[in-house]
Parts: sequence; C-alpha cells; structure tokens
Amino acid sequence: MSKDNNCIFCKIIDKQISANIVYETNNLMAFHDANPVARLHLLIIPKTHVASINDLDEAHAHVIADMILLAKQLARTFGVNESGYRLVMNTGKQAGQSVFHLHVHLLGGRDFSWPPG
Ligand code: 5GP
Ligand code: ZN
Repeated sequence: MSKDNNCIFCKIIDKQISANIVYETNNLMAFHDANPVARLHLLIIPKTHVASINDLDEAHAHVIADMILLAKQLARTFGVNESGYRLVMNTGKQAGQSVFHLHVHLLGGRDFSWPPG
C-alpha cells in the first residue's frame, strides 16, 4: 500500500487528521467533504496513494471498480439513488483537482447543471 507523507488524504487514512468517515475497508475509505458543494458530498478514496487518473495502470483496475461500486452503495445508503447523483473525478489543475490523491466525489441532494462549470 503506497503512501505519501505529505498527502492530506493519506493522513486521513492514517487517522493523523480527523474526518467524518462513513465507510472503511482494507482498501477504501469514504468520508464527508470538509467543504461540501451539495447537500450530500462524499469523497471515496483508495487507501493506496495514487495521485490521479494519470497515474493509474492495469494493476489498479479492481480499485477503480470497487470505488464505483461503493459510490453506488453509498448513494443508496444516503438516499440519493432514486433522485440522481453525480460522480466527479477532477484530474489535473485545469480541471480543478486540488488534492493529488485519487478520489471520486459523490454529489447529491440538489439539481446539477450541464455542461459543468
Ligand atoms: P479536488 O478539488 O481535488 O477534486 O477535491 C478535493 C476535495 O477535498 C475538495 O472538495 C475539498 O473540499 C476536500 N478536502 C480538502 N482537504 C480536506 C480535508 O482535510 N478533509 C476533508 N474531509 N475534505 C478535504
Ligand atoms: Zn495520498
């Protein structure tokens, strides 16, 4: 399990920084975003440090699948599966990525516009 000592999400995984954790297994963690932009705003992360989609390879395929399946499960748990929800993976600075530890935003509980801003 790779780790970056300067990474804020690795620190959350290590419990050096607290977060409102809603789900945790050996491989994944999900917690409420500290600065929510929707009524429901969770972050789903792998416990292994991967900076972004750009750093993924075939060996991570199961992690990605597990993240999406967890998003589906949490959408149901938090009651947005029927109304609709949005999964976002910002990749790189121009797309708005600010934390360089792979994560899926699970957003729900309000209307979303398209195209995104
Ligand atoms: P990005 O901009 O990289 O796509 O998303 C990073 C997200 O992490 C942001 O929505 C930001 O609010 C959230 N975030 C940054 N630092 C922390 C933290 O220490 N705790 C929690 N719970 N969320 C954080
Ligand atoms: Zn990390």
